[in-house]
Amino acid sequence: MSRFFSEELSALTPYTPGEQPDKSKQLIKLNTNENPYGPGPMVKKALEETDSDLLRLYPDPEALELREAIADFYGLGPEQVAVTNGSDETLAFAFMAFSANRRKVFFPEISYGFYPVFAQVFKTDFEEVPLRGGLTIDPEDYLKCDGPVLIANPNAPTGLALEPSEIERILNADPYRLVIIDEAYVDFGAESCVPLIEKYDNLLVIQTFSKSRGLAGSRVGFALGCEDLINDINTIKFSFNPYSLDQVAISVAAASMRDKEHFEQTRSMIMATREKTFKTLKEMNFHVIPSKANFLFARHDLISGADYFAALRENDIIVRHFDKERIEDYVRISIGTDEQMKQFLKVTGEIIRELE
Ligand SMILES: *Cc1c(COP(=O)(O)O)cnc(C)c1O
Repeated sequence: MSRFFSEELSALTPYTPGEQPDKSKQLIKLNTNENPYGPGPMVKKALEETDSDLLRLYPDPEALELREAIADFYGLGPEQVAVTNGSDETLAFAFMAFSANRRKVFFPEISYGFYPVFAQVFKTDFEEVPLRGGLTIDPEDYLKCDGPVLIANPNAPTGLALEPSEIERILNADPYRLVIIDEAYVDFGAESCVPLIEKYDNLLVIQTFSKSRGLAGSRVGFALGCEDLINDINTIKFSFNPYSLDQVAISVAAASMRDKEHFEQTRSMIMATREKTFKTLKEMNFHVIPSKANFLFARHDLISGADYFAALRENDIIVRHFDKERIEDYVRISIGTDEQMKQFLKVTGEIIRELE
């Protein structure tokens, strides 16, 4: 740290992204919940048709083409959509916009690791609400929170999802309190809260192109909500970086939203592979949480999370391990292709057999 770094931020612990290994190494990468199938034919076409001369100009700060594509997909108006550089940026803008009045932000004790980092960097007081048994979220615990509530649904890294009716209870408990639902994984089998937007002006839904739409490298995320909430997000965006989405990302993400066939096909493949992997892990006596996301969270009585992670790494397979109380015995396994999961299960079988 230089002597110039802000004293107020001196205790800041940045988010630790999952490892992005050297591409030349033939590793099976199941550690950052990327989509094994990537973007579809309509995205490829949009990229091919991109004129490099376009890069001379600033991108459309309104990103209207993309906001309209998203609005069409969800049956909303473009004024109910804000787009940002990854949903991490949406989350950052939401912290800036909605915690500035110094109200405490509430989120689950075990959830996306970026939430407490945002709270620290934006100097927001926060409270981590304990999970119940089985690492579940109980909506009851959020009814009386006197500040914005932020919940990932499905939650990460557990993969467990709440029903929209359960989230509605939290929304109804206090119409003067904002509820932010991070739906990064919602397309893998959970039910979205987007239809509730018309009914609740205290609901902001955040989604991303990084997981179900295979565009993690493009950095595109978005927020859906009533026009006033979206205007607030855009007020922050236009006070920070109006051009946070480059023109290539705007056209590629718009094409991806229109490619419903590729979206439907790849997400069902991932869900089918997840269910097969779940079943095989259970047969090997793993404790596996039933997941509505593109990952599984699993542990085994015979091996610690750290040792299992290391044993897989030895065999060129990377998963994610969190050195955190209550979940240190688990590893999080992103769902890859059938072939990748077959190799993962083969290696896992060998690791477990040696311990029995
Ligand atoms: C991956 C993820 C995000 C961030 O995605 P971006 O790549 O920044 O769009 C946000 N929330 C959760 C829970 C995630 O897992």
